[in-house]
This record gives sequence, C-alpha cells and structure tokens, in this order.
Amino acid sequence: MEQFLRFKSVNGICWGVFDEGRVAEISSNPAFGYEKTGNYYEFSMIKLLAPVEPSKIVCVGLNYREHVKESQSATEVPQSPVLFLKPPSALIGPGAKIIYPEMSERVDYEAELGIIIGKECHQVAEVEAEDYIFGYTCANDVTARDLQKKDVQWTRGKGFDSFCPVGPWVVNRLAYEDVAVESYLNGELRQSGRTSMMIFPVPFLISFISKVMTLYPGDIILTGTPAGIGPMKLGDRIEVRIEGIGSLVNDVA
Ligand code: MG
Repeated sequence: MEQFLRFKSVNGICWGVFDEGRVAEISSNPAFGYEKTGNYYEFSMIKLLAPVEPSKIVCVGLNYREHVKESQSATEVPQSPVLFLKPPSALIGPGAKIIYPEMSERVDYEAELGIIIGKECHQVAEVEAEDYIFGYTCANDVTARDLQKKDVQWTRGKGFDSFCPVGPWVVNRLAYEDVAVESYLNGELRQSGRTSMMIFPVPFLISFISKVMTLYPGDIILTGTPAGIGPMKLGDRIEVRIEGIGSLVNDVA
C-alpha cells in the first residue's frame, strides 16, 4: 500500500509518496503515473494540501439508509444514485479552514469515502469498475443545509469555497467494501458507519456515473455520508476518519 500526498515545501508545491518515514517527491499527479524525482523531505517540514487535482468532483447524495431516514428532504430510498457536482474551487486540504458563508445559518459536516479515478472511464461495466480506481481518501461534503433546502439545485448549498476538505493523503489499496467511516466534532464521535451499508456500492457508482459523464484520471467521487450529520459553529473542529486511510481535520472559521 502506498500513500500519496500533495504538499507545499520551501521548493513550492509538489506531489509525493511516503518512503520509509520520509516523503519522496514525485514527478506529477500520481493518478496519471509518476516517477520519483530523487528529492526527499521530512514530513515535519512540509504543509499538506488537498491530495487531488480533479477536473470534477462528483458527489452521491442519500447513499446510506439511515441517512435517508434522518434527511427531511427525502422519504424514500432512491431508485438510482442521486448525483451532484462540487466545483474544484471548493477543495481544501488538511488543516485548512472551512469558511462559514455569510449567506448561511446552518453549515453541516458529512464524512465520506472519496474514490480517485486512475484511468479514463466511459461506460464501464460494474464488474470492471475497480480497474478504474487509482485510490481512496477521506472527504467532507460540507453543506449549507438551509440553502440546500431552499434551492431546487444543490449547487449553492454544496459549492462554496472550502466546502470540500479532502485528505490527508490518497492510499492506493483499501478494502473499500467494508471500512469504518466516522466523524468527530470537537473530539466527540458523531457519525459511525461502514461502507458496507451503502445503498449503491462503489463499483455500481463508478459504472453508473461513467454512463453519464466521462471520468478522467484524478477525478474524485464522494460516495455519500452515513447517519449522524449535524451543524458546525465557528471555531469548531471537524475530523473525518476512515479506517485504512487516516484522519482529515479542519476547523471552521
Ligand atoms: Mg454528501
């Protein structure tokens, strides 16, 4: 298993991979393939950035039954995946601040497994979908809940700058069918689900989305959130923790 990261150092912004306790710089976004450049960094000397540079962020709504129940906007389990997009401008990395928008009075966290695509993906079958995965990361589908309910489309409620924290890194191996997805608000457990509880599992999602839009290497899919969503206030700290990946922590400002 390898862990890929994107970071800022004294030499600027680059991609890297953990290598025996240090970070080896690599030539490019690893979802497109890479070589090690020969430069190494101490982990303590770098600042992590979002470990993705997608052409698009595809999100799946209402993909866990218990979350459908707690959501007042839906009463029935969807017959097919509910898709929406976040703009890449919403991305932030580990430790970056989620900015509470003036327009909203309720901003929620949603812990989600993120899937990063590794090969151009157009109309693929469910049984082949796994071949198109590059890696996995933690994501937070931050949502202005009041605006989501007010609008027909979710673009505003889901699309503010800083509403897509991702990280801390991308792992290229994960038993994604059944890992724990949790969130902690100021250290208290708020969401505790397992990916095995998804209504539409990961290969189905990739196949389904690829029949709508071509996915490119580096694109990311947010696979939906388990039950337990709730609001955040200024100064709160939100952590998304996924078994086998790590922990993504952001503060609200
Ligand atoms: Mg979500």
